[in-house]
Amino acid sequence: MVFVHLHCHFKGSFSDSALPLERTVKKAKECGHNAIAITDHGELSFVPEFQRKCRENGIKPIIGVEVYFVPDAKQCIKKKDNERYHLIFIAKNENGYKNLVRLVSKSWIENNFYGRRGLVDYKLLREHHKDLLCLTACFFNPISQIYFKNGISKGEDEFLKLREIFGDDLFLEVGRHFIKEEEESNEFLIKLSKKYNVPIILTNDVHYLEKEDWIKHDLIIKSRFGRITDFHVDSRDYWYKTTDEMKELGFPEEFLKNTLIVSDKCKEYDLPNEGDYDWVDFDVFPVEFEEIDEKEAEWVSNEVLGNIEKEIVEGIVKFWRRAKVIPERIIKCKEKILGEVVPLRITERVFTVQYLLSDLKNFGCSLSDDLNFLKNPDTLMWLGWALFRRNNFDKAERFFLNSISNGSDNPLNFYGIGIIKWKKEGNLKEAKEYFVKYLKMDSSSKRSKKVRKILDIISK
Ligand SMILES: [Zn+2]
Ligand SMILES: [Zn+2]
Repeated sequence: MVFVHLHCHFKGSFSDSALPLERTVKKAKECGHNAIAITDHGELSFVPEFQRKCRENGIKPIIGVEVYFVPDAKQCIKKKDNERYHLIFIAKNENGYKNLVRLVSKSWIENNFYGRRGLVDYKLLREHHKDLLCLTACFFNPISQIYFKNGISKGEDEFLKLREIFGDDLFLEVGRHFIKEEEESNEFLIKLSKKYNVPIILTNDVHYLEKEDWIKHDLIIKSRFGRITDFHVDSRDYWYKTTDEMKELGFPEEFLKNTLIVSDKCKEYDLPNEGDYDWVDFDVFPVEFEEIDEKEAEWVSNEVLGNIEKEIVEGIVKFWRRAKVIPERIIKCKEKILGEVVPLRITERVFTVQYLLSDLKNFGCSLSDDLNFLKNPDTLMWLGWALFRRNNFDKAERFFLNSISNGSDNPLNFYGIGIIKWKKEGNLKEAKEYFVKYLKMDSSSKRSKKVRKILDIISK
C-alpha cells in the first residue's frame, strides 16, 4: 500500500457531495487503501456514521474537516468581506477531535458570517490547534491565494504563520484536476516545501465515487438553491481514484507515500458518548438547552413523536415519488422509522430526520420551499428544536414561526424564538415580546419561572 485519500467530501458537505459512504469504504478496501479521511466543509455531523462504517469494514477512519479560513474573522464580519480560504484540519487522537469540535462550533458561534458559514481564524487556531494536523487543502488555501494576490513574500508569510503553529504537523497539499490556477499553486507550494523541508502530500479533493458520477455532483451543485443555476464546476476529475490513477497524475511517488505519514500520525479513538461532553468549555447551546433536552421526552410523547416522524417520512417519500424514484436510503430510513424495528432514542431520531432533510437538501430543495408538505405545527416546532440544537438559529426561527402560523398553541415556539432573539441577535426588545407571549400561555411551570428571571435580566 502506498497511498490513502486524505481529502474526501461526504454528506456533511451539504450540496457539494455525491460520495456514498458505504460504497466508498468498500472501494477503499478494493483499492488496498487501509485508511480514509473525511473532510467535509465546516461540518462534523457525518463523522459518527463515517467512523461506524469504516470500522465495520476494517478501514481506519481519519477524522478531519475542511474549514473556511480567514486571517481575522471579526474584521471580515465587520467589513462583510465574503472572501475566505480553505484549510483542512485532521485529528491525531481523541484530544485532537475535541479541538476539532471546539474549532467548528466556535467558528459558528463566535465567527458566524451572516448565517452562511462559520469562520476559523488565527486566533481560534492558536487556542485549539493541539493534536491537530494541518493540510493546506485545495488551491483556495490562504498561502496560494495570498501569493496570487499579493506576491511571493506575502504568500510565504502565510505559510510561516501556519508552520509556526503546526510545526511538523503541517503538510502542503498538491493535486491535479487540470486547472491552471491549481498548477500555479502546486508550483509555489513545492518551492516552499524544498526551501523549508515540509512534506508534500498528493490528494484528489474527492466529491464522488466513479469517474462518470461527475454528472450527479454537477446536478447537486447546480440545483443547491432549490432552482437550477448555471454554476460551473471547474473540473470533472473529483472522483475516488485508485492508486494507479493517482500515480498517473505525474507527481513524484514520494508525494503519494507521504499520505501514509499523515495516516500513521492519526491514532484510533472512540468519539465521546452522548452526554459525555463535560470537556466542552463554551456554550454549545445558548442557555437552558439542557432543560429542553430533558423536557423533550416529556412534551414529545412517543405517540406524538411517531406522528411527527411519519409526516416527515411520508412527505419525503411523496417528494421522491414525484421524482419517479425512491432511493434505497430513503426506504431504509422509512423502515427504520415506520417499521418500528428498533426503537430509536430521541437523539437518533433527530439524527435520522436531519439525515433525511440533508438528503433532500442535497438534491436541491430549500428547506423553506420544498418542505411545504410539512403542515403539522408539532412537526415544525420539533424540527425547529432539532435545528436549534445544532446552532442553526436562522432556520430554527423559521420553523418556529411556521409552526405558529400553522396554528400551534405550544408556548415552546415563543420560548425558542425568545432565546434566539436574545442570545443570538441580542435583540432585547423583540426577545422580551416573545417571552411575554410565552408567559401569557404558560405562567405556572418551572420554565415560566425561568422566563420571568430572564425578563428580569434583560429589563435591567
Ligand atoms: Zn477546498
Ligand atoms: Zn475539498
